Amino acid sequence: MKKLEKRSWAEPFKIKVVEPIKMTSKEHRLEAVKEAGYNTFLLKSEDVYIDLLTDSGTNAMSDYQWAGMMIGDEAYAGSKNFYYLWDNVKKFYGMPYFVPTHQGRAAEHMVSQILIKKGDYVPGNMYFTTTRLHQELAGATFVDVIIDEAHDPGDPHPFKGNVDVNKLDKLVQEVGADKIPYVCIAGPVNMAGGQPFSMANLKEVKSYCDTKGIDLWFDATRAVENAYFIKTREEGYADKTITEILFEICSYFEGLWVSAKKDLMVNIGGIFATKNKDVFEQARNLVVVYEGLHTYGGLAGRDMEAMARGMEEMVQYDNVRARIGQVEYCGNRLEEFGIPFVKPIGGHAIFLDAKAFLDHLPQDQFPAQTLAAEIYIDSGVRGMERGIVSAGRDPKTGDHRYPKLELVRLTFPRRVYTQAHIDVTVESIASVYENRKNIKGLKMVYEPKYLRFFQGRFDRL
Ligand SMILES: *Cc1c(COP(=O)(O)O)cnc(C)c1O
Repeated sequence: MKKLEKRSWAEPFKIKVVEPIKMTSKEHRLEAVKEAGYNTFLLKSEDVYIDLLTDSGTNAMSDYQWAGMMIGDEAYAGSKNFYYLWDNVKKFYGMPYFVPTHQGRAAEHMVSQILIKKGDYVPGNMYFTTTRLHQELAGATFVDVIIDEAHDPGDPHPFKGNVDVNKLDKLVQEVGADKIPYVCIAGPVNMAGGQPFSMANLKEVKSYCDTKGIDLWFDATRAVENAYFIKTREEGYADKTITEILFEICSYFEGLWVSAKKDLMVNIGGIFATKNKDVFEQARNLVVVYEGLHTYGGLAGRDMEAMARGMEEMVQYDNVRARIGQVEYCGNRLEEFGIPFVKPIGGHAIFLDAKAFLDHLPQDQFPAQTLAAEIYIDSGVRGMERGIVSAGRDPKTGDHRYPKLELVRLTFPRRVYTQAHIDVTVESIASVYENRKNIKGLKMVYEPKYLRFFQGRFDRL
């Protein structure tokens, strides 16, 4: 008889509605991935069995959120859902001024256009694709000031999202504080493997920036997950609630933006929020040009209601714990097979280390792109490339950027998949790993100008 060694946990919800998924054969998948140019972004969703492409807008809403969808006030101006959402932005993010947007990048566009002048520099704790592009389109040069540990997939640092204040100071010395409109902080840092920053580091950055008169702006898209890591890893926060920690984080910033498609567990939506009345007024004006009136910002009233309700659920400890617990479960099982991935296990995703996984492929044969395609062929599990393709080209030299991290991201939509789905995923990756020496690389046959990872096409070498 087996002795009881541990007590398991389970999700704080049960399933009320199900969506059938198609089972496909390997022949079908070989054909489908070829047709998609070996780019998992170009696969048809119905050809995918377990979709770990992204957790963006792919979350399962609760019955409370769906009920809210029925009371959408679809007035062009002054919808009551807008005012309820605004109240919750104040309550959870602590920002008095708010403009809704249809997605996070629309808010990034406004932040960049309002704050950046041509020739400016924007330091950040590693880049995010859309964030950096909007900063560059506004005329700024992005400068990575994250700690070195973030670029090492094996380093166990608990807060790999931290800013290296020496790197930041070096930039300030070089270009002058007046060329730095703001420091851009995100957490957990997606491109580093879902790695959080610590409150201590944030406070240190804030006090440094105060001496130089530079503001902090926050990509708060995954802030709840960062708050969870602070609660579970940082001294002094174990007894604080997620709500309290989130509120404290936001208090150090002049303003923030959110892609509601992540933490807020909805399918669409974005937030621009700030303490700065002048910046707010500019955003409220700019939103009319690109999104719609400032009381709907490209969203239906029902979407704003679902966002407001999602915000109330996102801060519930058991919800965050189940979400991050599922990622941990996947990581622990991959570990059993010796599969290389970024440590510590991140907040929203597992990042397979494609450089180590396919160590016979040079980086310009796109190891991560290749690995994502191979996993799809094996089982219909869809992940995505986060490596040389995502990093794009240097706007000055036109060469590929060669990032240190060459990763395949397996991202877990919130409240969507069961532990059995995770087991199937892990076993598929283990099978590809056993066969890894036979895998050949890819060549790029079509390259779009912007964000090439979305639409680029490849062929087998
Ligand atoms: C998704 C995301 C964005 C962009 O938001 P969209 O809603 O996809 O436009 C920006 N920053 C981070 C950290 C994100 O995860």
